[in-house]
Amino acid sequence: MCAPRASERDGYITAPARQHLTSPRRSADRSPNAIQHRAVARVIAIANQKGGVGKTTTAVNLAASLAVAERRTLLIDGDPQGNATSGIGVARADFERTTYDVLLGESTIAEARLRAVQFRHLDVLPATPDLAGAEVELVDADARERRMRRAVDTIRDDYDFILIDCPPSLGLITLNMLAAADALLIPLQCEYYALEGLSQLLNTVHLIQHGVNPSLAISGVLLTMYDARLNLSRQVAADAREYFGSEVFDTVVPRNVRLAEAPSFGKPIVLYDVQSIGAQAYMAIANELIAREGTTTVQPATVKHESTATAPSEVTA
Ligand code: ATP
Ligand code: MG
Repeated sequence: MCAPRASERDGYITAPARQHLTSPRRSADRSPNAIQHRAVARVIAIANQKGGVGKTTTAVNLAASLAVAERRTLLIDGDPQGNATSGIGVARADFERTTYDVLLGESTIAEARLRAVQFRHLDVLPATPDLAGAEVELVDADARERRMRRAVDTIRDDYDFILIDCPPSLGLITLNMLAAADALLIPLQCEYYALEGLSQLLNTVHLIQHGVNPSLAISGVLLTMYDARLNLSRQVAADAREYFGSEVFDTVVPRNVRLAEAPSFGKPIVLYDVQSIGAQAYMAIANELIAREGTTTVQPATVKHESTATAPSEVTA
């Protein structure tokens, strides 16, 4: 079975929704030399209301790769499933305060974050299933969609990148995360229905742009679980590039069993198997992101790990 061409499936991304695919190309200082820390963080929400497309895998491994590159990075777990928390190696016993407390105004991020998780430059704001309660408890709250934005504003200048792992829904938690973000990164799984439902996500972005957060942009579409042997993967990649153009990262994330295994060891892929194609892909994606932001590249040799590091080679489709 082969996916129909995007143009044959007219309407699955509406024209108005497509208009919001504008990405501000940052006025980057592209000096090739020393690492330049941003004055304030770039806040990137990783969202797609479709489940299981690789949001958490991307949040964890991109955050780790950025930290390897000595970018001061905060990973915010914005999903009650808490998969980013456990996936990065944080156990329930390691913390008391969570994203829930921050959203409810009972803690600041500075109080709740865990410092230097796995890497010197990686902090984590953890989540637990309690966070699901925020969806209901915030309904009647003041400025209910601005809670995370206000919280993030207080620690923005501590970081170069803040990555937010969103839940598979477009509820109040996701709205809070998109309201807090400068940019939305959309993981797209290379499967038949990959682009279905994107109109809904892009319309949500549109509402946020016209309300709480006019500066929200789409800063990238990432193809995940790509299998070069499958026509379907290649077709989805072609469709995505047709719709999103240069917003699609050159690097695709291949389907790689090492990426699926790593979370059960509480390790990002660069610590679990730095030589795997999954690790290479996420380091290359971090490099693309850093290049877009105008700073220097990931140096895999800085991975503090027992195995021999190899230079990432680009995996592209
Ligand atoms: P949810 O919507 O439930 O939050 P998600 O979008 O965060 O899901 P992940 O949890 O990252 O998706 O991935 C879903 C499953 O696919 C997980 O078991 C993960 O280990 C696996 N997976 C993700 N990316 C890859 C990959 N590139 N290769 C192989 N397995 C992958
Ligand atoms: Mg997830």
